[in-house]
Amino acid sequence: MVSRSPDATATAVERVLSTPGRSGRILHSRDVGAREGRTAPWPAWADDGVVAALRRAGVPEPWQHQVDAASRAWAGRHVVVATPAASGKSLAYLLPVLTALRAQPVGGRSATALYLSPTKALAADQLAAVEALGLDGVRPATYDGDTPADERRWVREHAGYVLTNPDLLHHSMLPGHARWASFLRRLRYVVVDECHHYRGVFGSHVAAVLRRLRRVAARYGSYPVFVLASATVSQPALTASRLTGLDVEEVATDTSRRGAMRFLLWEPPLLPGGGEHGAPTRRSALSEVGELLADLVVDRVRTLAFVRSRRGAEVVSMTAKRLLAEIDPGLPARVAAYRGGYLPEERRELERALRDGDLLALATTSALELGIDVSGLDAVLLAGWPGTRASLWQQAGRAGRAGQPALAVLVARDDPLDTYLVHHPSAVFDAPVEATVLDPANPYVLAPHLCAAAAELPLTEADLPMFSDSAAELLDVLVGRGLLRRRPSGWFWTAPSRASDLTDLRGAGGAPVRVVEGDTGRVLGSIDRAAADHSVHAGAVYVHQGASFVVDSLDLASGLALVHREDVDHVTQARDVTDIRVLGERQRTAWGPVDLVFGEVEVTTQVTSFLRRRLVTNEVIGEVALDLPSRRLRTTAVWWTLPASLLAGCGIRPDDVPGALHAAEHAAIGLLPLVATCDRWDVGGVSTALHPDTAAPTIFVHDGHPGGAGFAERGYAAATTWLRATAAAIGACECESGCPSCVQSPKCGNGNEPLDKAGALRLLGAALAGAPDAREDEGGGSG
Ligand SMILES: [Zn+2]
Ligand SMILES: [Zn+2]
Repeated sequence: MVSRSPDATATAVERVLSTPGRSGRILHSRDVGAREGRTAPWPAWADDGVVAALRRAGVPEPWQHQVDAASRAWAGRHVVVATPAASGKSLAYLLPVLTALRAQPVGGRSATALYLSPTKALAADQLAAVEALGLDGVRPATYDGDTPADERRWVREHAGYVLTNPDLLHHSMLPGHARWASFLRRLRYVVVDECHHYRGVFGSHVAAVLRRLRRVAARYGSYPVFVLASATVSQPALTASRLTGLDVEEVATDTSRRGAMRFLLWEPPLLPGGGEHGAPTRRSALSEVGELLADLVVDRVRTLAFVRSRRGAEVVSMTAKRLLAEIDPGLPARVAAYRGGYLPEERRELERALRDGDLLALATTSALELGIDVSGLDAVLLAGWPGTRASLWQQAGRAGRAGQPALAVLVARDDPLDTYLVHHPSAVFDAPVEATVLDPANPYVLAPHLCAAAAELPLTEADLPMFSDSAAELLDVLVGRGLLRRRPSGWFWTAPSRASDLTDLRGAGGAPVRVVEGDTGRVLGSIDRAAADHSVHAGAVYVHQGASFVVDSLDLASGLALVHREDVDHVTQARDVTDIRVLGERQRTAWGPVDLVFGEVEVTTQVTSFLRRRLVTNEVIGEVALDLPSRRLRTTAVWWTLPASLLAGCGIRPDDVPGALHAAEHAAIGLLPLVATCDRWDVGGVSTALHPDTAAPTIFVHDGHPGGAGFAERGYAAATTWLRATAAAIGACECESGCPSCVQSPKCGNGNEPLDKAGALRLLGAALAGAPDAREDEGGGSG
């Protein structure tokens, strides 16, 4: 471990900040103070061997929140522990789980436990951590797609702690539950780790899988206690209850020790031109972070830079290397980009190099993908908002060691959400975090799971409430389609095929489209069918692990996009025409003359052409027409209607109404992730000066998945917070008439035309004049 005096980092930071021209870019500096931790004695019920092993592993005494959560789980209460990264969430579930596994069985065999994580890598880490404790009687084992056939049987029959993922539950464990009878009969705990990943459509799928697990376990006489671990999210008990269908209690107060950190909010300068319709663009967060990284490396400050894409990570590392080469030829070699796909020994070597200081800086994508265990660095740079506050703290938390001040810098990208956040520090540091949303009742998601459940054990009337209030109606539809059979004793799956093959947990709507290199037949990746027209149409540029490919053909019938390797100087962006139809309303509220509605819609989209844009500058260099069929999406939406008189009253001329609505729609979509854990790609929008179904100027924001994913619903529930932040983001941007930091959208199907920034501000102001206090909506009174 390299040692630095506490002052060294502080001095380096001062030097970085005092570079001429930079001070104006720092919009806020917050010293996040150090905090003493609060410990509690080991609980009396905990197994002595487990306690001794945890002590040996470096935990003299647990934190208060760990004991709090562990004791509830031990008492048989379902609990979610939602505290920041590095606060020791795993101890909270390991204490009761390992104690139960080691308890002397009372007649028969000892208890078992199931651990679920969103990725195989995390399950492997958990296995290593448990094995390192060296406890008898636990018999941990991973069980996933990579487990060899001969080991599978041993795991089913002998393992005590099985570590797997929801996908395996869905495809293998639940359909083949008879083979797991011995394990399921003794199932005492189910651990759901990193459960904030189960959001949107994926979360809705996992909710159905957990209900199937509960039903099958009950058949074997088991009613396991669920212990969930999550990053800090708002309303963790509510989300965990929705995910499991059980009453879950929350432990959300972090009592662990924390080091001091200086946190900067940073906005790159606005540069003239370069954008669509001559709009100004901000200096890219990548250039800015590359430069900061180089400065920190010169001062030997060990730094991690988080970037949204692999290509971005390359750009940051190349920028830093180039700048460093001019200063000291030895320095560029001490900067690297994390490229993914490493072998375990390569990952360990990378960890060692960073720990020892051989490597001073690493540019990488998100923490989960990182797959390496790095903490205790001196600084973390974030090129753009990482999506959620939970991710922000997870990433920033990689910096900081006892007795050493750490630095974190959030550099805003050209995006309305980033603009809003760097101008509103309280929304970053003090606001309640986003809610993880999911919709267990989405019929598109639930239908295949009802079939799978019926195949596992015939469904009875008594089973239905667990799934959804409308499960009975849905079953009638499935019977009508010949998928299920109704008999006096319940609903049966009688087809010879596997019901669990009807759906995949991670794809939305049918098998994904495979992206295949034509020359070699190599499969590069897959794309959701619904997104294929937009992202892998003929001529589209497809980036895979930093290399660019151009799509030769897209065939939706065979689910195949053929590509060839080609270095190009541009990216592509699809343009579309979109129509929206209101199918029904579920909730409605009035803000004075403005109506806010949540309901069902049908969105029809046709991709008609694509733009070629130059890399880095984003300048449009050409448009190519496409001939693709139109697609229909039935989903949920939130919309608001504004009477034409209201718009006229606040000075928006009739000609400017479409631009004002469109600009407000873009910014609102950009800001929705402030209140729900989605990103702007999970939702879409339509605005129109006169909609036939509402007979008024209307802005729609809809979920991008069939049946909805809960995002629009959350927008409706937290509308005041959401739209206030939208107005504030537009107002905070210093551009004259709209830019990507406020009202332009990178995914606009209309090429960002027309847009009226000033009109959008007036329109939102008028709508919000009749809004209730933000404290009254579910978004909380933040920002
Ligand atoms: Zn702007
Ligand atoms: Zn648009």
